[in-house]
Amino acid sequence: MAAAGIPFDPLRPLQNQKALVTGANSGIGEACARALGAAGADVVVNFVTRPEEAERVIGVIQQQGSQAIAAQADVSREDQVQAMFAEMLKAFGTIDILINNAGLQQDAAFEEMTLKQWETVISVNLTGQFLCAREAVREFLRRGVVPAVSRAAGKIICMSSVHEVIPWSGHVNYAASKGGVMQLMKSMAQELAPKKIRVNSIAPGAIKTPINRDAWNTPEALKSLLRLIPDQRAGEPEDIARTATWLASDQSDYITGATIFVDGGMTLYPGFATGG
Ligand code: NAD
Repeated sequence: MAAAGIPFDPLRPLQNQKALVTGANSGIGEACARALGAAGADVVVNFVTRPEEAERVIGVIQQQGSQAIAAQADVSREDQVQAMFAEMLKAFGTIDILINNAGLQQDAAFEEMTLKQWETVISVNLTGQFLCAREAVREFLRRGVVPAVSRAAGKIICMSSVHEVIPWSGHVNYAASKGGVMQLMKSMAQELAPKKIRVNSIAPGAIKTPINRDAWNTPEALKSLLRLIPDQRAGEPEDIARTATWLASDQSDYITGATIFVDGGMTLYPGFATGG
């Protein structure tokens, strides 16, 4: 939906918008970058390693008729995040959409978890989202609403996880980071709504990507995983990308501070499906 009198193309609802997707050379981030590009946005494909994978994603987006550039940055490093945003503003002029997607796991039994494992996961999954969101918000506030582009001054989508609410033994650093993302997102949403900045999260369940390959790439592992998913299928990155595209568009203009669970029912206490 564009402002009154402005033509709106339902096939390219993000036309004229500029998006940054972190961790966009793999899995969910890649799917989001491709989907935003297909929806008309120009996309910055952030990566930290494997530039050739970022180049591949850029090629796909360009074939879809949108612009795309790669930007290397470790999202947990303030200097690198600031340099990446400077690069984006130079290339595209502004930012309308941030998909705070980069994340990782470093699993260990609680008593064996090292401080480094704890700090690495919190730094990338939580501090990284803070650093990128802060840079995006600074630009949203500087530029304000451009009615011909979007009803919002900016949209931030935080990639959370069902583990923002489901405790996860053996992964306390990861669960703590995603619980932190939930309150980071909600507090930003509350503070920034008067400035017409929307902040929401997507909480994926089990999506088939490299991060959790061991959980789905053998028939035995998949069978065990499906016990946790009422819908009886593991998710695909495109399940998340479709939700991200909608959340980034004016179709969801009155939604802020929400977590959308895209999890096939994983958060529905599947252990109680037969009465407990
Ligand atoms: P993935 O491993 O395929 O992708 C993670 C991406 O983050 C990669 O591009 C990686 O290079 C990037 N990354 C890691 N550290 C980085 C850093 N310091 N700076 C910049 N980029 C960095 O995994 P995925 O499943 O696509 O994960 C994407 C997001 O989705 C993560 O935040 C993850 O926690 C979340 N998530 C995934 C699932 C799932 O089932 N796959 C479920 C819930 C949440």
